[in-house]
Order: sequence, then structure tokens, then C-alpha cells
Amino acid sequence: MSDKQTRTILYVEDNPENRLLVRRILQAEGYQVIEAEHAHQALKIIEGLHPDLVLMDINMPDMDGFTLTAKFKEMPHLKDVPIVALTANVMRGDKERTLDAGCDGYIQKPIDVDALPLQLAAYLKHNGQ
Ligand code: MN
Repeated sequence: MSDKQTRTILYVEDNPENRLLVRRILQAEGYQVIEAEHAHQALKIIEGLHPDLVLMDINMPDMDGFTLTAKFKEMPHLKDVPIVALTANVMRGDKERTLDAGCDGYIQKPIDVDALPLQLAAYLKHNGQ
């Protein structure tokens, strides 16, 4: 039986330095962090995973995070799972593109180490958890 307090976050990110940074931050906050290094690995992992939240990089080599988010949102078991985009893109229209893809929100890179836990907690709370 899993600890009721332990929440699982799937982090899809091709950059190993970002993965290390985010893993450290989130594990320190008590989250279980599952990582996917690219979109196709994420698609494999998600078949057997019902995370509490997905943190989604946008720029990946095999498939962009917009496309992957749209695929995730078509999956019945992910209907209620918030997907938060993590993007370095600051171009006008990217916020809209993120939301059009079905993301519940987005966080801009560079990652703010102090703010990230609060940002994610807000999405988890919003989801009624
Ligand atoms: Mn990337």
C-alpha cells in the first residue's frame, strides 16, 4: 500500500542537467519522480503509470511536448491528470499553443528552484488533491 502523502510526478525532459535539478528539488519535497528522456519513452512509461502530475518539456528531439501532451490527453486514464509545460519558449503565442495542446498550465525556464515546489503544488491543489 502506498503512502497517501506520496505523489508521483512524471517528468518528460531530454536535458540531463534539467532532469537532475528537478529530481533533486522534487525528491526533497517528498515527491516520487519518474523520468522519461524523450517522448517515445514517455509513451511507453505512461501505459503503466497514473501519475498525479506530468511535467512536460516542450523542446525534445523526437516529438515536441505539445504533440505529446495532446496524445496524453486522449488517454482515458490521464483525463484528470494535470500536465504542466516546462518551456524556454518565450515567443508570443506559446502560452496559447501550450493551452491549445491541452496543458493545464506552463512554467518558464530557467527553472526557479525556490518557486517550483509551490508552482506544482498549486496545480495539484487545483486538481482537488
Ligand atoms: Mn528539451
